[in-house]
Amino acid sequence: MTRIDLHCHSRASDGTLTPSELMRAGVAAGLDVMAITDHDTTGGWDEAAAARPAGLTLVRGAELSCRWYGVEPAIPLHLLAYLFDPAEPHLAADLLRMRTDRERRGEKIVELLRADGVDISWPEVHGYAAGGSVGRPHIAQALIRAGLVRTTNEAFASRWLGARYFVPKADLDVFEAVRAVRAAGGVPVFAHPNATVRGRIVPDKLIVDLAEAGLFGLEADHEDHSIEQRAHVRALAADLGLIVTGSSDFHGTHKTVQLGAFTTELAAYEKIVAAGTGVPILG
Ligand code: AMP
Ligand code: FE
Ligand code: FE
Ligand code: ZN
Repeated sequence: MTRIDLHCHSRASDGTLTPSELMRAGVAAGLDVMAITDHDTTGGWDEAAAARPAGLTLVRGAELSCRWYGVEPAIPLHLLAYLFDPAEPHLAADLLRMRTDRERRGEKIVELLRADGVDISWPEVHGYAAGGSVGRPHIAQALIRAGLVRTTNEAFASRWLGARYFVPKADLDVFEAVRAVRAAGGVPVFAHPNATVRGRIVPDKLIVDLAEAGLFGLEADHEDHSIEQRAHVRALAADLGLIVTGSSDFHGTHKTVQLGAFTTELAAYEKIVAAGTGVPILG
């Protein structure tokens, strides 16, 4: 059986393993195919490619921070993008803008916390991100260091990063994102589309419209989906002619889920490979 995990984060964003460590962990977890999908960046691609062990196929991708503006307030969502050309100027500019705004927003959250007497600093948080895409898990790490929470999950409670110290970031309109990924030769897959545990979710009608706009697949098997949600996403994909994926959304020690906890079927993976024209798979 081919073991395929198409959603993994490294230290290029909010994972805790370097891209090289992630490659080795993939082999140790018995994976045959692994995608690196850091938030709003391709910054881990080169190191991952250089460190790729023989026998592990690497799919280069990213997870784009998007929003659907069809309701007020707009709903944030994540779009996985595979095999796009990182040099395509439009998409590259979008990614850069999102990373830059993550810095502004991270600094703002730290300011709000400091104003309430929380003893963390922007240089500390920025340091945890180690040059990658800064995210709330890096602020969570500082809150843990300061002894205010014990886990990343606790830091996302409403009294901390979930609501009280929530600051929105500049996300991409999801239709723009689907078009930009396609224009860069990439393959867009909607990450954890029914994950109500993360907040509001979009209606099925939006997914119908996204499919028309070029969406290629839906991530069905994910730890944030209940059994019913997985079945619902799978049925919707079948109706719309979309592929389904399953993946761990591995983040190292920032989450408890392990590599390969959920996997993608070979046939779906092969369709992604056939549709992606921006960069080849490696291996
Ligand atoms: P950001 O992209 O900066 O808005 O932070 C969101 C990221 O934090 C997500 O990609 C997850 O990796 C992580 N995250 C969100 N909610 C939680 C949670 N409850 N526990 C742990 N990590 C979370
Ligand atoms: Fe994340
Ligand atoms: Fe996500
Ligand atoms: Zn993710």
